Order: sequence, then structure tokens, then C-alpha cells
Amino acid sequence: MTSVMWFRRDLRLEDNTALKHAFEESDQLILLFHVNPEQFLEDGATNQVSFFNSVKILEASIKEQGGKLHILFGDIEDCFQELKETFPEWSDVFINRDEKGYGLQRDKKMAQFFKEHDINAHGFFDHHIHYATEIKTKSDTLYKVFTPYFRQWKEKRKPDPVTVDFQKDKLVSSSEFNDHHERFYKFFNEQVKINSQSKVEELEQGNKAAHQKLDDFIEEKLSEYKEARDYPLKDGTSRMSHHLRAGEISARTVYSKIKAAPDSKGKETFIQELAWRDFYNMVYYAYPDQKEKEVDENFSRVEWDNNEENFEKWKEGRTGFPIVDAAMRQLKQKGWMHNRLRMITASFLTKDLLIDWRWGEKYFQTHLVDYDPCSNIGGWQWAASTGTDGVPYFRIFNPTTQSERFDKKGDFIRLYVPELKTIDTKKIHEPSTLTKEEQKKYGITIGEDYPEPIVNHKRSRELAIQAYEASKKKV
Ligand code: FAD
Repeated sequence: MTSVMWFRRDLRLEDNTALKHAFEESDQLILLFHVNPEQFLEDGATNQVSFFNSVKILEASIKEQGGKLHILFGDIEDCFQELKETFPEWSDVFINRDEKGYGLQRDKKMAQFFKEHDINAHGFFDHHIHYATEIKTKSDTLYKVFTPYFRQWKEKRKPDPVTVDFQKDKLVSSSEFNDHHERFYKFFNEQVKINSQSKVEELEQGNKAAHQKLDDFIEEKLSEYKEARDYPLKDGTSRMSHHLRAGEISARTVYSKIKAAPDSKGKETFIQELAWRDFYNMVYYAYPDQKEKEVDENFSRVEWDNNEENFEKWKEGRTGFPIVDAAMRQLKQKGWMHNRLRMITASFLTKDLLIDWRWGEKYFQTHLVDYDPCSNIGGWQWAASTGTDGVPYFRIFNPTTQSERFDKKGDFIRLYVPELKTIDTKKIHEPSTLTKEEQKKYGITIGEDYPEPIVNHKRSRELAIQAYEASKKKV
């Protein structure tokens, strides 16, 4: 039988369930990736540029092993129609399934196409350690709260990594789609140039880099992870997120390597973070409209202020709150932001500025190299207190005390907000309190070189609580 292995967000040749079956069950195999340029979020979007860079790396590793990745570029049905006309003998397709969001809609649409063209589709669960409906309560419902979910998750037997027998002789290498290939790379190279060149160059991507990084992390950082993971300057986390979201390494492989490491508090905490990734996948499955809609109905009627000027200042890192500004500049420069800072900036946008969490979610979507809809929407709804198991609406992060706690010496701020770098540690978290003499001493004028705070935290905290309570009353 002649089959297609359709890669999507599983860009690796090892421990890949669909690929394993595709090799085992086919006589001839076409390796394929499809790109629809219409789907691009905005020109130069870091999220997608970095993803397509992963495709480029996958293509190179397939070539190294004597095969060819066929890239189709354009409208999805037109592309697959052309594929069928080129290979009339094509009868089966192998995919790792998407359980929610855009991927699920695409898979449903394509299931119809495959049916109409007599193509057998073989779908597998592969993106998570446990798929969405695998962890259920005793009454057969999905969990809403992480702690009991995690209790169950821990008990459940973990799937072992699978072995792919890469049989080069089965692979089809056709030049029929070279024009698609050229169009894709023309498009990709233009997109990289827009604003992502340095980010993509700096980012280590691909399966080899993922293994190297994971091994180094286990060796040098895992045992201290529980304490170190909260401090942005410490670089105490694994940096696995962009590898996992593109599937350059499987969650099973990450889990099994971590599991084999010596026991420590860090190891326990890390495993819990992997479970959060599964949890948010399950939540998106359970609430398919959560990208647009609050999961918690109580907070679906918050009257957002949505001040566009403030939104711009947040995006640009010009809010007058140094930790927020440093974080937002890190995102813009690197396409990544530390978890503690994602929580602080998301809380600041939704509670201090009273700006709709959907605006923030979309902004992160464009800029993150590790954008994952489940974790991003989950994280935003958590911070906005609108999600399942979110932070209580009255527990509002104070950006200054968060800064004093997690960037004690202010060195993370100095790294990304250089206009504050001369300021003493005691004052760097709240430069608006500098006296005229101190400003002179540090060579900075607040309000000119660095902005005054755009809101008063104490006052905006009160307003946020009022807005959330008003929403509850309206429901
Ligand atoms: P580590 O601390 O080393 O964690 C290991 C892995 O566990 C991560 O790679 C990730 O896959 C998973 N993980 C860790 N924390 C979480 C979490 N809170 N939720 C789900 N999975 C987690 N993560 C993304 O992968 N993509 C996103 O788009 C994303 N958006 C977020 C938005 C907000 C507002 C918040 C608060 C969090 C978001 N997260 C997102 C979760 C978390 O911030 C990142 O996974 C983490 O910072 C990635 O760095 P790391 O790989 O070094 O993490």
C-alpha cells in the first residue's frame, strides 16, 4: 500500500506513533508537510516563523537519512487534491491527531476529504503523555481542578516511548512538488526577515538540540528546579517548551528521561509541570470555545476598560512598572518569557489595566516561540481568574512586591530596561519614588527617560475587584 505520513506538530523521526505505524504498515511512504499561508497571523509572526524553522530542520534530517520531505503550499484541499492526482495509488494516511482547536477542525474537514477519495485515515494520540479523556473522575466526568486531576494522573501508567524503524527504501522521493517547495521557502525567507531573524538564529531548535538541552538540564538543574524555577534571571528551567510545541521531542521521551533521573524535589515539581500541560489540553478539549469565552460563567461579564493607549504601553514595555516592562521587552526581543513573568504581565494587563485577557492571549500568540493554544489560553484564563482552577479574582499580584521577591537585586530589570541600570537595588523596583536629587545622582529623569507608572496599583486593584464582583452579580 502507498501511504502518506502527514507531519503537523510532531516534527521528529523518533518516538512518533503515527510515523512508526506508517513505516510498519506501508510498502511505499510519502513524507509530507502542508503549509497554508492564509493562516499566517501577521507578517513576521515569531510564533510561526520559528515553527517553520522547525520544519526546515526536520526536512534536513530526513534528507540526511536519504529521504525527502514533500512540502505542499497553498489551500489545503487543493493541495491534497493535487497529491491524489499525482499519486492515484495513494490509499492511506497516517497522522497524530489534534484533540481541539484549529487542528481538530482541520482534521474533521480532511476526514471528509479522505472519505470522499477512498483514503483510509489512521489517527493516533501522540502529543501528550495522557490524552484529554484518559484521566477522568470516578463518575466518568472530566476534572475541573488540577489537584485531584494530578492525583489520578500520577497513578496512571505512563506510555513508553515508541521505536520508529526508519526504512529509507520505502520512501518516495518525487520532484512533482518542487514548485510548492520553492514557494514555501520564498515565503518563509521573507517572513524571517521581517522581525524574526535574530530570534530564530538564537533559538536552538530541532530534535538533537532538544535532547542536548534536556540532558544538560537533568544533569545541572533538575534537582534545584523547585526553588530556581521562579527566578527569571536564574535560567533554572528546562526551556523545553518550544521543542514540545513543535513536537521536536515527544512528551513521552521528556517524561521517561526525567523519571530515570535521581529522585529530588525538583524532579517531582517538574513532573507536575508536565501534568499541567496535559491538564490544559484536557481543559481545551472540554471547553472548545475557551479561546473566545470565559470558562467560568461568573466572570463572563466583566466590563473591561480596554484603553488602547495603555495596551500599547504594555506591549512596548513602557508602563512605568519595571518588572512588567522588562518582561514585555524580553518577549519582544527573544520570543520567550519566563513563567513567573507571564503570570505577572498577564495579571497586570487584566487586573491593573482592566484590559480583556483575549487581547493579551492574542498578543502572546503572535510573539511566543513556544505558543501552544492550550497552555496559553489556560495561562491567560488562570491569570484573569476566568478559567477553571484560576487564581481567585481578589488575589491580585502586586507588580512591585513580585519584583522585589523574584528579581531581588534588580538585575533582570537592568538586563532589559537599560535606562534603569544605574539605579540602586533598593529603588529599582519603584523608580517613581526617586527624589529629584536621586534622579540627578543616577542620571535619569522619571517621566522623560523612563515613564511614570501608568496606573496606581492600589486604586486599580480596587477597581478590578469591583468589576469582577459586578460581573458575578449580573450572571
Ligand atoms: P519548565 O519550567 O522547564 O517546564 C517544563 C515544561 O512543562 C514546559 O516546557 C511546558 O511544556 C510545561 N509547563 C510548565 N509550566 C506550565 C504551565 N503553567 N502550563 C502548561 N504547561 C506548563 N506554555 C507554553 O508551552 N506555551 C504557551 O503559549 C504558554 N503560554 C502561557 C501564558 C501564560 C499567561 C502563562 C501564565 C503561562 C503560559 N505557559 C505557556 C506556561 C509556562 O509559562 C511555559 O510552559 C514555560 O514558561 C516554558 O518554559 P520552560 O520550558 O523552561 O518551562
